[in-house]
Amino acid sequence: MSCLACGSQNLQLWTHSRDTEYFTTSESFALYRCRACDALSIDPVPRERLREIYPPTYYSFASGVRSFATRVKEALDRRRFAKLLRGLPGRELAVLDVGGGSGYLLDLVKSADPRVTRTQVVDFDPEAQQVARARGHGTFLGRIEDYATKQRFDLVLLLNLIEHVEDPGAVLAKARALLRPGGVILVQTPNWRCLDEWLFRRKSWGGYHTPRHWVLLTRRSLTALVDRAGLSLRRFQYTQGGWFWAVSVLAWFHEKGLVKASFERPLNRHPLFGPLAALFAAFDFARLPFAKGSQMCGELVAAETAPRPGIARREA
Ligand SMILES: [Zn+2]
Repeated sequence: MSCLACGSQNLQLWTHSRDTEYFTTSESFALYRCRACDALSIDPVPRERLREIYPPTYYSFASGVRSFATRVKEALDRRRFAKLLRGLPGRELAVLDVGGGSGYLLDLVKSADPRVTRTQVVDFDPEAQQVARARGHGTFLGRIEDYATKQRFDLVLLLNLIEHVEDPGAVLAKARALLRPGGVILVQTPNWRCLDEWLFRRKSWGGYHTPRHWVLLTRRSLTALVDRAGLSLRRFQYTQGGWFWAVSVLAWFHEKGLVKASFERPLNRHPLFGPLAALFAAFDFARLPFAKGSQMCGELVAAETAPRPGIARREA
C-alpha cells in the first residue's frame, strides 16, 4: 500500500480504529502514517462498500430539525461566505459545492451575495439530488472526478470532502480545472495532529471517522498536496472540531456502557451529542490562538506555475 496523499510507500502503522459512530461494521481498520508527508491513510480502503459505510442515517443526507447550534453555525458560515464572495470580481458568480448533498450550503451562499446566480451540486446521493433540484440548484449525480462540463466556477467548495476520497490530489486538480480565472477553492479538512487525536488515538478518535475518512492530513501534507495540484494556499486557519470531541467522548462512554448507541441510533443522535459538541467547540475556539484545531480551512488559487502532475507519485 502507499500514502493516499503523496504515493510514498514509506509508512508506519499508526493505530487501529473502528466505526464507533454509526456502527456500520465491526471490522477494525489500520491507519498508516506517511513518513514523507505526515498524512494518515486507511487500510484497507473500503472503496466497494460505499452503500454499507454511508448508512441512511448519515448526517449530510438526513435533513433533520435545525438546532440552536446549527443556526449559530449557519450564521458563521454565511458570514464566512459573504467575506469570501466580496473578494471575487464579476457581476454574476457561479458556485460549485462538491459533496453538497441537498444544497443547503449553497442556499447560504446565495443569501450571502445576490451576485450568485448559478449554483451547482455534485454528489452521489439520489435523494439529496431531488432536494437540491427542488431548491433550484443544478445537480450532477456522481463523483467529481466523473463530472464533465464546460461550465467554470468562481468559487468551488470542498468542505470536508477530500478526506473521504482515495485520490485527494486528483480531486484538487479537477477542482482547479473547473475554476474561472481568478476563482477560489475553499477547502476544509481535518487536521489529525491535534490534542483530541493525541488523547483518543487508541480509542477511535472521532476525527478518524472510520471507515469513511480515508486520508487525514496536517498543514504540512495539505500544503504539499495543494502544491502538486497546481494550486497555492492563499489563506490558512485552524478551526474548531467540537464534533470530533463529542464523538470521541461519547464513544468512550459507550465502550464503558454509560451511554446507548447502535446502528439504528448512531452516536451523534444521542441527546448529549449537541451539548458536548457545542461545549468543545467553545473550548477549541478559546485555545485556537495558541493551539492547532482539529479542522483546517484554506483558500486555494491557481498557482502561477503549471501543475506538476508527474511529481506526486515519484516523491517516494
Ligand atoms: Zn504521504
